Amino acid sequence: MNIVTRFPPSPTGFMHVGNARTAYFNWLYAKRNGGKFVVRIEDTDRARYKPEYVDAITNALSWMGLDHDGEITSQFANQARHAEIVQELLDKGQAYYCYCSPEELEEMRVTSKAEGRATYYDRRWRDRDASDAPKDIKPVVRIKAPLEGKMTVHDEVQGEVTVAAEQLDDFIILRSDGVPTYMLAVVVDDHDMGITHVIRGDDHLNNVFRQNVIYDAMGWSKPVYAHLPLILGPDGAKLSKRHGAASVEEFREMGYLPEALKNYLLRLGWSHGDDEIISDAQAIEWFDLKDINKSAGRFDYQKLDSVNDHYLNLRSADDLIGLMKPIFKKEYNIELSTQSAAWINAGIDELKERAKTIPDLAKEALFYATQPPYNLDEKAQKMLDEGKDILTHLSAKFEVQNDFSSEAVKNICMEIANEHAAGKLGKVGMPLRVALTGTTSSPTIFNVAEILRKKETCTRINTALQNSD
Ligand code: GLU
Repeated sequence: MNIVTRFPPSPTGFMHVGNARTAYFNWLYAKRNGGKFVVRIEDTDRARYKPEYVDAITNALSWMGLDHDGEITSQFANQARHAEIVQELLDKGQAYYCYCSPEELEEMRVTSKAEGRATYYDRRWRDRDASDAPKDIKPVVRIKAPLEGKMTVHDEVQGEVTVAAEQLDDFIILRSDGVPTYMLAVVVDDHDMGITHVIRGDDHLNNVFRQNVIYDAMGWSKPVYAHLPLILGPDGAKLSKRHGAASVEEFREMGYLPEALKNYLLRLGWSHGDDEIISDAQAIEWFDLKDINKSAGRFDYQKLDSVNDHYLNLRSADDLIGLMKPIFKKEYNIELSTQSAAWINAGIDELKERAKTIPDLAKEALFYATQPPYNLDEKAQKMLDEGKDILTHLSAKFEVQNDFSSEAVKNICMEIANEHAAGKLGKVGMPLRVALTGTTSSPTIFNVAEILRKKETCTRINTALQNSD
């Protein structure tokens, strides 16, 4: 079988991570099986439609590296084909016009509610002669759902799911304004696109039964279904903005790496033994529907941080600098100079250890990206003021020092500590740190001095001295 999976998002403005996971699973399943992964935009709700929403989806997909086969298609553009199938169903006697007035429908609703029935439409036009049709009502088209018995679906994740016929009504496939319904459009598109596997959120599980009525009426073969449990927030409610970031765009803006987000989402809904760190290549090799978790996962932001930390460490310095540049610009209004980039490059290992995300990293690297004088907090200013004499001694020694390796710098600091601070290295290191970085917490300060080199180190010390009391 030539496997074809699909990702058919409705353009609602952003891409929820639940959708991102659905897309990733479909992509993985297609890759795993040498199949195709297609993307269809379900843009039939014209009142809500905006082209930028489609861009948000395609940008999110390409950021995640989820390449699709063929062109991205539009469901709306396929409306004539949907209407054609409605006509075919009418011709086959599998569908019929229903001329109920809004008042009649309301009456049915009230009655069915009073009787506690799951559906309300009483199928009054199913076998009625069209010559009875009232002239002033524009009809809808309804499909004939089975009147009795049960429908069972085998779902790759949820197992066997059964509903009784009375749970299904003769639902609408064409509205009175001539627009085909979503339920119909999905089935026609999936059929036409040769979709073999429908992997989607379990909020669509109930739709399967209705969609299967259409497949049966058309005599089309049905896809394999796999319905994924929802992603919940830490409190057990459906993950939403209320919990923090919930969309791909937000995680991207917060500086998470796509490979980290994918790995995290993969593990949130699927497992392979105890493996936590799983690359795309490994996931493609291992991914199978049977290993999808049956219960909903709770989003754990800290865990995502630690996965991101892992992937951050795998990225090259140049890569990371490229990712930091827009953040320097946006957050700090800094255009990174070649010199600053070279310093960051040289210091990247220690900076990486101190950061879990790209914005963290940019913050840690800020002293390489900017020149003093720095705005000091109270603690830093105090250390600088108290260490003024120490810094003066240090500067004098540095000026005549040739070897400016981290080790040589440390030795000089040690000498000064012995001479002026009762051997306490911290009494030297701390003011030096404030002078070079403007903070009281930074990578190893002797390494920083080595990276900045003698001239810049001495300039920074002198600037700091000018700003101390
Ligand atoms: N357009 C639907 C959604 O975004 C997906 C429908 C489906 O996967 O069948 O929820």
